[in-house]
Amino acid sequence: MIAVLAGGVGAAKFLQGLVNAELQEEVVVIVNTGDDLVQYGLHISPDLDTIVYTLANLVNPETGWGVRNESFQARSSLQRLGDNPWFTLGDRDIGLHMFRTQRLSEGASLTQVTAEIAKAFNVGVTVLPMSDDAVRTKVLAQLPSNDDRGDQIVELDFQEYFVRYQHQPRVLRVRYDHIETAKPAIAVEHALSAARRIIIAPSNPILSIGPIIALRGIDEQLRRRAKEGDVVAISPIIAGEAVKGPLAEILDSLMTQHDARTVAQLYQEFTSVFIVDAADAHLIDPISTLGITCLATQTLMTDLEVAVNLARFAVMAQ
Ligand code: GDP
Repeated sequence: MIAVLAGGVGAAKFLQGLVNAELQEEVVVIVNTGDDLVQYGLHISPDLDTIVYTLANLVNPETGWGVRNESFQARSSLQRLGDNPWFTLGDRDIGLHMFRTQRLSEGASLTQVTAEIAKAFNVGVTVLPMSDDAVRTKVLAQLPSNDDRGDQIVELDFQEYFVRYQHQPRVLRVRYDHIETAKPAIAVEHALSAARRIIIAPSNPILSIGPIIALRGIDEQLRRRAKEGDVVAISPIIAGEAVKGPLAEILDSLMTQHDARTVAQLYQEFTSVFIVDAADAHLIDPISTLGITCLATQTLMTDLEVAVNLARFAVMAQ
């Protein structure tokens, strides 16, 4: 079995490569839920949904999230009522959130509901939320000076930061609310001990992978598996830049530098192998001094073939 720690879009592309790599091996994906939110009473799990829509070949190829050929009638109704929704909710997408919310209210766990969704969407991998408990990523941010609130420092819910403010504010700190009391889902602990290989997908290490590692006991499990040589991480930074999203700015703000080496430092204790892009081959030596094996290959997943090759490389890497 191969276990993958995952955020949203970057991880989803990687997983598409993994399921098409003809490895004849079970894949279990452990997904960040620190980004989850409730809107209009609906429980939304953006990273879980991105993974499901991608693996079901339903994802909107232009955004990398949401459903392709989506309609937005519900949003039009809200706008007519004078509401101005900042979080994009397409009609098909809303149906999925309604199902999740209903099942949770009936007492099903997020793990159970996610399995039901993955089955209905014919997703060929086991999709696990990192926890059945609510962990919420909070971002202490400096608002832009053109905001109503001036350039005040405020703590934002993750999606407020990411979607409402379009990740423009400078990030001063990130914390995971309720992380001390939340437990990893039982299936997550099992997967991390049973997997012959654990892969940390090219995702945001602070906003997507950070909450998973911060769950009680997961750090210990990863440290142990890394010592055994079984954990491989893929850099989401290529040639000093994020492929998409605010990662470079966040690393700059929190770690004062933003190359692949910075990500390797964050994963130092939790991975045995770190894969950088061929464009960063000059970082192999400096990263190796962290005590990690560093390998380079093409990691920019411009099409399925590159994703398949990257997945095979990560599964074989020693
Ligand atoms: P989300 O996609 O915004 O939900 O967040 P993720 O946690 O999945 O992180 C996106 C990260 O994945 C960004 O930092 C990107 O730089 C990285 N990423 C996206 N696509 C690729 C890719 O093709 N190759 C690599 N190496 N990284 C990628």
